[in-house]
Amino acid sequence: LLQQRIHGTVLEINLNALTHNFNFFKKRLNPQTKVMVMVKAFAYGGGAVEIANHLQSMGVDYLAVAYTDEGVTLRQHGIQLPIMVLNPLEESFHFLRQFDLEPVVFSLDFFQKLNLWAAEQHALLKIHLDFDTGMHRLGFEEEDMKALREQIIASKNLELASIYTHLVGADEQIHEEFSREQLEKFQQMKDILLQGLDKKPLIHALNSGGIIRFPEFQWDMVRLGIGLYGVEVTGGFDAELQSVSTLKTTVSQVKTLMPGETVGYSRKGLMENGGKIATLPIGYADGFDRRFSNGKGYVLIQGKKAAVVGNVCMDMVMVDVSGMEVKAGDEAIVYGEEISLKALAENIGTIPYELLTNISSRVKRVYY
Ligand code: PLP
Repeated sequence: LLQQRIHGTVLEINLNALTHNFNFFKKRLNPQTKVMVMVKAFAYGGGAVEIANHLQSMGVDYLAVAYTDEGVTLRQHGIQLPIMVLNPLEESFHFLRQFDLEPVVFSLDFFQKLNLWAAEQHALLKIHLDFDTGMHRLGFEEEDMKALREQIIASKNLELASIYTHLVGADEQIHEEFSREQLEKFQQMKDILLQGLDKKPLIHALNSGGIIRFPEFQWDMVRLGIGLYGVEVTGGFDAELQSVSTLKTTVSQVKTLMPGETVGYSRKGLMENGGKIATLPIGYADGFDRRFSNGKGYVLIQGKKAAVVGNVCMDMVMVDVSGMEVKAGDEAIVYGEEISLKALAENIGTIPYELLTNISSRVKRVYY
C-alpha cells in the first residue's frame, strides 16, 4: 500500500490464487505426475524469487528458466529446487556447474561441446533434451536420434534427466490435429532414443493448454506456465483459475475539457464533445503498452471501463471518465480479476504473455 502511495502504481501478487491454480492443475493430473513450473521472464512478470520461494514451499518438483543468469539469481536467493535452463549459452557452462543448473541440450554439436567441457572439468551435469516436433525453434531432429543415443551412452559427464518437446498451439482448437501429430512424433523419437538406455529419464510435453487439452499425454511431468499465473488459456473450464496479478494505479488528476479540445502528444486524443479525463501514473515505461493508445486499452475505475484517450505517454496515460464521479486518489485497475487479459491483448494484436512479462521493474511487486 505504501508503494502505491509513493509511485501510484503497484503490481499485487496473490500467492493464495497461485496455490489455487496449482491445485486446479494438480487435480487434473495423475498423482505421481511431476510439475515443472516456468519461472522464466521474472516468473511471467510476477517476480521470480518470491514466486519460486512460494512454489518451493508448495512442493513443486522442478523450475525452469530461459537463461542461465535467471537460474543464478534463483540460487543466490536460496532456491534449492532443480532448475532447468532452456537456452544455455556456451559461455555460461561454468555457471551451470557452479550453481547446479541443468541445461537443455538441443543439438549434437551442443552436446559435444558441453560433454567435452564437462570432461575437462571432471564435472557431472544433469541435462535435458529438447526434441523438435514442429516448433522449429531449438531441438533435435528425428535423424539425430541414433547418434544422440551413442553420445549419451559414451558420456561419463552428462546425465540424462529428461526428454521433452513443446507444442506450438496447445491452447488453440484449430491446432488440435497438429498437436496430436507432434505428440505422436515425440513418442516415436523418444522410443528410438530410449532403446538400450538403462536409466529412464523423465518424459514431458505439456504446457498449460496441453494439460487441459491432452492430459493423456502427461507422461512423467508437465511444464506449467501461464495457467498457474491465472490467465485462461483455452477459454474452456480454465475459467476456474484465479487471477494472480492485479496491476493497480491511482488517479493523479481529473480535468474537464471543452468540445474540440485534444489530449496528449500529437493532439491524438480529440474530445469532440468535451468531457472529463483522468490522468494515471502509468505509461509505456511501466509496461502499459503504447499500442493501447486512442481507445485500444482501458482501465476499470469504480468497476466501469474508462478508455484510453490519446497516446500513452512514457509515465502517464489519460482515460475518459466522462459521466463518472472520479477524483484524484481514486483507484484504477489496469489488469486484474475483472479484466480479461486475453481480450485486452487481442485489441492490440498480442497475447497475455506479453502484457504480463512487459510490466517493468519500475513497478513494485507486493505479495500477499
Ligand atoms: N515449456 C516451454 C519449453 C516453454 O517455452 C513454455 C513457455 O513459453 C512453457 C513450457 C509454458 O507454457 P505456458 O505458459 O503456455 O504454460
